[in-house]
Amino acid sequence: MALCNRVLRLKLPIQQFPNYACYQNKRTYSEKVTSMPKPVSSVETTDHLIYTHEHNALRESLRKIIDKEINPFIEKWEEAELFPAHRIFKILGSSGFLGVNKPTEYGGLGLDFSYNVAVAEELGNIRCGGIPMAIGVQSDMATPALARYGSAELKKEFLQPTIAGDKVVCLGVSEVGAGSDVASIKTKAVRKGDDYIINGGKMWTTNGTQADWMCLLANTSDGPPHRNKSLICLPMNLPGIHVTRKISKIGMKSSDTAEIFFDDVRVPCKNLIGEEGMGFTYQMLQFQEERLWGVANILTPMQTVIQETIEYTRQRKIFNQPILHNQTVHFRLAELETEVELLRSLLYRATAMYVNGSDVTKLASMAKLKAGRLARELSDSCLQFWGGMGFTSDVFVSRFYRDSRLMSIGAGADEVMLSIICKYMETLPGKK
Ligand SMILES: Cc1cc2nc3c(=O)[nH]c(=O)nc-3n(C[C@H](O)[C@H](O)[C@H](O)COP(=O)(O)OP(=O)(O)OC[C@H]3O[C@@H](n4cnc5c(N)ncnc54)[C@H](O)[C@@H]3O)c2cc1C
Repeated sequence: MALCNRVLRLKLPIQQFPNYACYQNKRTYSEKVTSMPKPVSSVETTDHLIYTHEHNALRESLRKIIDKEINPFIEKWEEAELFPAHRIFKILGSSGFLGVNKPTEYGGLGLDFSYNVAVAEELGNIRCGGIPMAIGVQSDMATPALARYGSAELKKEFLQPTIAGDKVVCLGVSEVGAGSDVASIKTKAVRKGDDYIINGGKMWTTNGTQADWMCLLANTSDGPPHRNKSLICLPMNLPGIHVTRKISKIGMKSSDTAEIFFDDVRVPCKNLIGEEGMGFTYQMLQFQEERLWGVANILTPMQTVIQETIEYTRQRKIFNQPILHNQTVHFRLAELETEVELLRSLLYRATAMYVNGSDVTKLASMAKLKAGRLARELSDSCLQFWGGMGFTSDVFVSRFYRDSRLMSIGAGADEVMLSIICKYMETLPGKK
């Protein structure tokens, strides 16, 4: 394992997509009606729109860790409503999975974002949503801005140990009174000499009870709401930081979600990421990667749920025939599979464009919206076909039903995605 990843570290090229258009004709060659269907999410796939053998090798290494170090313990962690973040992140960090597209000088693999998408898809093989989400916070949600805009000193102190899995990070954006409306956060960081004094609080903080530091969004001036915010690396062991409660949730059980207060917390101004006042912009950019990561991550459990529903309904007989033989059942599953493939195509297209340097805000928002809606539809339809079994805690479909509900709420609710898409369509009232 270690050798395999050392090989990956040394030999993997920094992949750039030559030209997205060149892939488009290629597809028609393999679309013979008589040909056997290819596994769509299998790591063996080679004729792939964005994944190469290197992507697949990375996924295979990760799959081994998931099967050995994570999946056997899921039930225990779901029940405890906590998983050992430091232990799991150290295992993942030692193999490079927490810094796939991060600079090599800080321990990253130095690959492009398509590899993060491949890793996110593979993490979808974890048999719950909470742990992949916690990993995603560490690798793709709380660290992109630091990697892009942070000073060398900050990267050394915070990014490097986070990539290595020695430090756990959380993202402090949402507050009790500000989730969808990020611009209206109230937490303040006021300059006093060489320090910021922080007062306020954060809500819904994933990894919040275990984190060593927070990527904090705070108001650093009284200026206009899009230009008065900054991102700050905040060590979580400072006096005045109170993790007041672990929030009880209907899903994502093994992931800890905290409410946190700041009471005159003093942090050096050098912990500022990039420029003061640019925090809102940095966070919006960070959200793009978070949303694409989230879409990639949910594709795999969607496919798993369809597959397990096929297997269950094929063997379960009622009225003298397998449930699957009812046209309403197999047609519905075919419809859902079609939707999953459409979403996958949108994700790969957005990823390819992102890697090529395009602004994919509109496509990423569409993909996130579609993923949330489809997860609800798919989990509800499939759960129905399991009958009473689907209503038990013993089957994956019921866990996915609970966990995936977050997709339409977290990281920007469906309505927020619709507002962004409308902005790009120039249809928001009052905006041109
Ligand atoms: C399990 C979990 C983990 C999370 N992890 C983190 C984390 O690590 N860090 C972090 O900062 N945040 C985190 N969040 C917060 C999450 O991003 C917010 O819950 C989300 O942004 C929605 O904010 P809110 O809960 O305040 O809902 P509100 O902003 O109160 O919105 C409520 C509802 O209003 C509707 N709505 C919103 N905007 C519009 C609109 N423009 N038009 C019409 N209707 C609208 C939507 O239906 C929305 O669901 C997490 C949340 C959960 C539940």
